Amino acid sequence: MAVPKSKVSPSRRNMRRAHDALAPSVHQECSNCGELKRPHHVCASCGHYDGRDVVEAEA
Ligand SMILES: [Zn+2]
Repeated sequence: MAVPKSKVSPSRRNMRRAHDALAPSVHQECSNCGELKRPHHVCASCGHYDGRDVVEAEA
């Protein structure tokens, strides 16, 4: 098992964790219904993608 040669100081530990924040999720308005949806994904509320109906709308 690999063993750390020396204790990581709180400063270095926190510097390492500086990149751990979750990225904010991206959303765009659906061009058909105006609901927020993820880019390059079928709209969850109306089933539209690329200007046409690709899946049946969910209730
Ligand atoms: Zn939509």
